[in-house]
Amino acid sequence: MSSYEDFHRRSIEDPEGFWGEQAQMIHWHKPPQKVRDYSKPPFCKWFVGGETNLCYNAVDRHLAERANQPALIYISTETDEEKVYTFAELHREVNRFAAVLQSQGLQKGDRVIIYMPMIAEALFAVLACVRLGAVHSVVFGGFAAYNLAVRIDDAKPKLMITSDAGMRGGKAVPYKHLVDESCSLAKFPPEKVILINRGLVKDMAITEGRDLDYATLRAQHMDAEVPITWLESNEPSYILYTSGTTGIPKGVQRDTGGYAVALASTMKHLYAVNPGETMFATSDIGWVVGHSYIIYGQLINGSATILYEGLPTRPDAGIWWKIVQDYKVRSMFSSPTAIRVLKSQDPKYMRMYDISCLRYLFLAGEPLDEPTSRWITDSLQIPVIDHYWQTETGWPMLSYLPGVDLKPNRFGSPGFPVYGYDIKVISEGTGEEVPRGDKGVLVVVPPLPPGCLSTVWGDDKRFVQSYFSSFKEMLYTSSDWAVRDEDGYFFILGRTDDVINVAGHRLGTREIEEAIQAHSAVAEVAVIGVADSVKGQVPVGFCRLRDPTLLDEPGAEARLEKEVIGKVQELLGAVAKPHRVHFVNALPKTRSGKLLRRSIQALAEGRDPGDLSTLDDPNSLEEVRRAVGH
Ligand code: AMP
Repeated sequence: MSSYEDFHRRSIEDPEGFWGEQAQMIHWHKPPQKVRDYSKPPFCKWFVGGETNLCYNAVDRHLAERANQPALIYISTETDEEKVYTFAELHREVNRFAAVLQSQGLQKGDRVIIYMPMIAEALFAVLACVRLGAVHSVVFGGFAAYNLAVRIDDAKPKLMITSDAGMRGGKAVPYKHLVDESCSLAKFPPEKVILINRGLVKDMAITEGRDLDYATLRAQHMDAEVPITWLESNEPSYILYTSGTTGIPKGVQRDTGGYAVALASTMKHLYAVNPGETMFATSDIGWVVGHSYIIYGQLINGSATILYEGLPTRPDAGIWWKIVQDYKVRSMFSSPTAIRVLKSQDPKYMRMYDISCLRYLFLAGEPLDEPTSRWITDSLQIPVIDHYWQTETGWPMLSYLPGVDLKPNRFGSPGFPVYGYDIKVISEGTGEEVPRGDKGVLVVVPPLPPGCLSTVWGDDKRFVQSYFSSFKEMLYTSSDWAVRDEDGYFFILGRTDDVINVAGHRLGTREIEEAIQAHSAVAEVAVIGVADSVKGQVPVGFCRLRDPTLLDEPGAEARLEKEVIGKVQELLGAVAKPHRVHFVNALPKTRSGKLLRRSIQALAEGRDPGDLSTLDDPNSLEEVRRAVGH
């Protein structure tokens, strides 16, 4: 076994040799002619000329050796369902779904928006799309109609796939009416909407001629076998929207071959899960973790994945550990927020099940604080691995590598650059590398390794502008602050931009501000992230009203706050709901009119507001202080 250092060095110094070897972990219908083409920086093509298919690698390839082994374990503690699909059964369901999509005229390159709860059909739908070479875009179920409409207009889908409702805490969360609303808001609504009806919503509106019932269509294709559409490695597999610094989300475009190779390699080197074993990621299919490590990674590896619909605390806080025991989970992947939720429960739940099968717990999505890390390490008595990545990269950038050489953990550090990533910490001002121990911006020297975003959907310029134009040298910016210590351990210190992280979910404050501004009483608004003991950060809004006398009436402030929060929920969904909205007579701004968000954030957290040399109106600081009561 090589040391971490040798392994990483080889990936950087001999990328063609290194990735050429990794590429052998997947099936190629036609082998690549060239490992890498970097003739048009920063665009990089991987495994050029190779033909493959994600669905074939995730499903068909395993039929010969493991047809009767578990592939998908579906558990819903909301509807009390538990079902294991073998690779053979998964193959059948994916073929049925693909045949349904084909019967609606879906072809290679067409886009499909999937807006679904955590049910098995969501995974079948995703795999059916890539089987046909269609490009899926899964939108997180917590997003509302406006958000969905923005994504529809960007992706211009031929079809949408949805469900009547998700379930949360025993209650149905209706989805279908949001799809209806988004279709009427969008300029480019899909021709057809395929509906998986779980029977959770009474009197659901159906649009004749557009809405199709999946169960009826499936019944017509029970024995379908849909041939694989082979794709050149660099053809797109999916679009996943993520928040940026503008109000318009970015469509992260993923390739096909590079992604498959990257995921296959991580299952072995990073998550250390063998074919035939089970890995459980507690995320949602609407996020990147769900794409890479609920849907694709395990299946490409011939391992079983768990799709869990429900809360970590229902029926009780032992439920995840029961799942680990029952399905002999080897590696588990969750978020610090979820662990903080478990930490607040009775510790007896941590001891109720035999979880000796579990070897590693991986956490990502937000900073892992030391008390949480120590608590979960003590409770599980196994390595708890903090690792760092982004929607853009699709797989980890910083981590420890149990499958190669597991270095000792350092609390608060997500470890070292993962193979393939040439990572530096540079000065925001000079673009030069900072000395060890100094804070700087975490960047990746391009080209990005296989599986990272190949561009922003439909907008190559934005890809270059957003990610590669911050410094004089062409470098991929993560937009995260970082420090590298004397021994090479990295530490992430938060975002350099106006993106906040709520319970591991990335939200653009600009999007929330735009939603608040849709309330007619609001003249201007600043949204910031404020530290929260469970969720890491929560959004908080500061509004200036068009007519401040609106607040004169008794009870007006609370009513207006409720209304503004309701507006965000209506437009963006519960996930973006501000924790509080305060009303002020002035917002701290520079003389040129730029909001001083970092100062507002500092004041809201009771800290020093920092550099105020450009502040226009000192009174505005008092306004914020008064509003937050510091
Ligand atoms: P997303 O693309 O939504 O997954 O969000 C990615 C962002 O989450 C990163 O840019 C970081 O700001 C943050 N993040 C992800 N993983 C970690 C981690 N292990 N430690 C600290 N921050 C993290």
